[in-house]
Amino acid sequence: MKKAYLLISILLITLMACSTMKEIKENQSQIAIIPKPVSVVAHEGQFVLDKKTSLEFNASDKELLNIAEYFNSILMKSAGFQLQINGNGGNIIILKLASEKLGKEGYEINVTDDEVVIKANDYPGIFYGVESLLQLLPPEIYSKTKVSGIQWTIPAATIKDAPKYQWRGMHLDVSRHFFKTDVVKRYIDYLAYHKLNVFHWHLTDDQGWRIEIKKYPKLTEIGGFRVDRSGINWNERELPKQGEKTPYGGFYTQDEIKDVIDYAAKRYITIVPEIEMPGHALAALAAYPELSCTGGPFMVAGGQYWPITHIFCAGNDDTFTLLENVLDEVIALFPGKYIHIGGDEAAKDEWQKCPKCQARIKAEGLKDEVELQSYFIKRIEKFIASKGKTLLGWDEIIEGGLPERAAVMSWRGMEGGAHAMKEGHDVVMSPYQFVYFDYLQGDKENEPEGPRAVLPLEKVYSFELMPEGIDKDLQKHLLGGQANVWTEFIPTEERIEYMLFPRIAALSESVWTVSSQKDYTDFMKRMDTQRKRYDALKVDYAKSSWGYK
Ligand SMILES: [Zn+2]
Repeated sequence: MKKAYLLISILLITLMACSTMKEIKENQSQIAIIPKPVSVVAHEGQFVLDKKTSLEFNASDKELLNIAEYFNSILMKSAGFQLQINGNGGNIIILKLASEKLGKEGYEINVTDDEVVIKANDYPGIFYGVESLLQLLPPEIYSKTKVSGIQWTIPAATIKDAPKYQWRGMHLDVSRHFFKTDVVKRYIDYLAYHKLNVFHWHLTDDQGWRIEIKKYPKLTEIGGFRVDRSGINWNERELPKQGEKTPYGGFYTQDEIKDVIDYAAKRYITIVPEIEMPGHALAALAAYPELSCTGGPFMVAGGQYWPITHIFCAGNDDTFTLLENVLDEVIALFPGKYIHIGGDEAAKDEWQKCPKCQARIKAEGLKDEVELQSYFIKRIEKFIASKGKTLLGWDEIIEGGLPERAAVMSWRGMEGGAHAMKEGHDVVMSPYQFVYFDYLQGDKENEPEGPRAVLPLEKVYSFELMPEGIDKDLQKHLLGGQANVWTEFIPTEERIEYMLFPRIAALSESVWTVSSQKDYTDFMKRMDTQRKRYDALKVDYAKSSWGYK
């Protein structure tokens, strides 16, 4: 009799263990976090989030309150309810600052049947914990309208996580096509969902000046608007004629800029503004032609007639007066450390012919126009440094000699960045071969009009940021990486989304996840869930990444 009892007990225990194992396995396969965390260990059970669930944290802490409100605002849209703050009666989600070996942006999540605890050293870590919590919930959590009939469950698990790089960026060009602040804010949301933390705002170029500068209203009155050549291929648009109407464009007032900066800050995203110089400056020169080498007159470009050789005159001190006054207002607006000054693709044709520029070359003992560009950038760098900020420029700023304190954004490949790192400069990797999201994503017949190059999802996923041959002690100069969305062929928000999704997911894993954890097959498995999140968000993503239209 005793023997039979023992056998039954063993059988029961084995059955229970099997069902536990099955549940743990199910939980593990259900968890599809992007970018992939450092470690995910599933347990038995699940937490059910409902109206009675309470969010617990130190309510006098305004930053935690902000994160709680962020979570509640997403929940309110899709689930139709929000969690009580420090309420009682139901199960609880705890947000807790705790000293752990997680770094500034790392976090830990523990989910059991009746409690979720998110721990981090600092607020960004708590925020990323909340982002991961959203991805533990059903994909419908991202819906912008109320979804019925869903049980909001979270699988029991322990997740430990921290990012690989401190600079995880996305860029948006608002000059070639203008996008209002609500579009920019939604773009910032997408960055936050993927744990990216830098938004590089390309505010000026040949086709439009988009930031209000109080001292120089013509920059936006004239520089913010261009002829309308919509419907004609960007590269085939004819030059605007003097006196032609300029109905297309727009700009951000400084109040709007502040509002966007604040919106991004609540999502732990720093905005890096870019003011292009000395080239890509036609919109500014249309407003102030006296700062060019030829004197103009100019019209803001309505498309790409290439190369655009009009450039700020480096021999005219008034050029520097205007640019420094502009930067003064830009620096007062943007709280981040970096000011991007472009510096790329500056054609030197006009400098070669300009008496003022040639006089500058002579007076400063410069060898040629390449060194004149270096003089230009160094002079601006000195001004930016005097305001306590750091100059950042595309890798062309290396040519002719890089200013001592400048940081470099490497777009023409990895070489420029590697060179700058070896000289002790901080670097952000953004090579077009891996992260230019204006390139097509699949076979041309499946894709909209755009530049001819193709940059499929898998190629973005294969992006490894650390260049070869960098000594260990210099590797700290690699801040991270970012992808760029140039908008020549992107006139609408829908097209932005199409070019961004799903490649932003691959980018996020390249800049967040350690290389040893990256695996494309595993990524694509998790992307099946990520797609459902994109469906819930109602964003248009490139189906060609999955091999169909
Ligand atoms: Zn000149």
